[in-house]
Amino acid sequence: MDTMSPTNDPHVHVIGHPLVQHKLTLLREKDRSTNSFRRLLHEISVLMAYEVTREMPTHLVEIETPLARMKSPVIDGKKTVFVVIMRAGSGFLDGMLEVVPGARVGHIGLYRDPKTLGAVEYYFKMPHGMEERDAIVLDPMLATGNSAVAAVDRLKEARPKSIRFVCLLAAPEGVKTLHEAHPEVSIWCAAVDERLNEKGYILPGLGDAGDRLFGTK
Ligand code: URA
Repeated sequence: MDTMSPTNDPHVHVIGHPLVQHKLTLLREKDRSTNSFRRLLHEISVLMAYEVTREMPTHLVEIETPLARMKSPVIDGKKTVFVVIMRAGSGFLDGMLEVVPGARVGHIGLYRDPKTLGAVEYYFKMPHGMEERDAIVLDPMLATGNSAVAAVDRLKEARPKSIRFVCLLAAPEGVKTLHEAHPEVSIWCAAVDERLNEKGYILPGLGDAGDRLFGTK
């Protein structure tokens, strides 16, 4: 099965860069240590940040090189807000901040009810001035899509200028659910896997991202 095959959906961007794909393969392996899993996720997030920020607006500033004055583009990192869906989303954050150090950070705490697989909110904190910011939501796994929809529903109350969703792995079911609820939110991922199992885990996937990241299992 080709897990990285892009869907026909123009809002789904599969980052097929060989470095990302190579590191993803290592990270999926079941015997990988917590330390190694964390390091790989960090490395992948740096590489993904590079792609996800490709369309960031820039403006010209006047600078002086050793030879001449010129106008040259800069991005306004402060206009970007990374929105971490706790807890696994935090594994993505440091790498993103390495690339966009001026970004602000918001947090949404959601847990998955094991019976209904529905998302339950326990924390929500955003920086001020969200109306001027482009939001990039971080969660390594887009599985059922319930947490993603709940996070974006809630985030929209703060009225950011735009919303993008960045995950490592997506299930087709999650892509569909998120797009039905929020068609304008583009999804950036390293692979779209085959399907969900009966417990809502992505197949072939990588297991529980939070547990593997924090060594809690
Ligand atoms: N969350 C995870 O951590 N893994 C999955 O496969 C699905 C949801």
